[in-house]
Amino acid sequence: MDPAGRKVRVATAWLSGCSGCHMSLLDMDERLLELASRIELMASPLTDWKEFPETDVTLVEGAVGNVEQLELIRLIRSRSRLLVSLGDCAITGNVPAMRNVYPVEDLLRESYEAQSAPVIGVPGRGSAVPRLIDRVLQVHQVVEVDYFLPGCPPDAGAIYELLAALCEGRQPALETRRFG
Ligand code: SF4
Repeated sequence: MDPAGRKVRVATAWLSGCSGCHMSLLDMDERLLELASRIELMASPLTDWKEFPETDVTLVEGAVGNVEQLELIRLIRSRSRLLVSLGDCAITGNVPAMRNVYPVEDLLRESYEAQSAPVIGVPGRGSAVPRLIDRVLQVHQVVEVDYFLPGCPPDAGAIYELLAALCEGRQPALETRRFG
């Protein structure tokens, strides 16, 4: 609940990441039950949402690596009162950004066209797989971020502390700071 007695509307999103940050969320174990009485989960990779909802807090895992994610993170920002960059991929680019040393066309050629077996669905070549953007971007290179929660993955206790603090309308007891 927030200080006004409302459940805090929370969502999570998964961009270019391994889902390990979401696994760390689940590692909160019984603290999830305690949070469940205070938050309303509006959207997550585990829920079926058609349109990203308005939220009080959205936790974003992963860097921005393709045109679909670029559009999604802008939409998420416009609908989230607070946005948290969750984990090193979102904050630094981390593993997904390792591809930044290669031009996208070289990467696609080497990864798909140079294979002896047929490839069904090269990203951005008329397939349902979204086109890669030229460089993998940190979330805050695209939109304003309110809190950074580092780690690969972030510690479950740190995620709990952040969510609990935001539910209570207080500053989290972490080495986090408001952006700007
Ligand atoms: S920060 Fe680590 S755990 Fe999280 S998505 Fe990236 S690689 Fe996976």
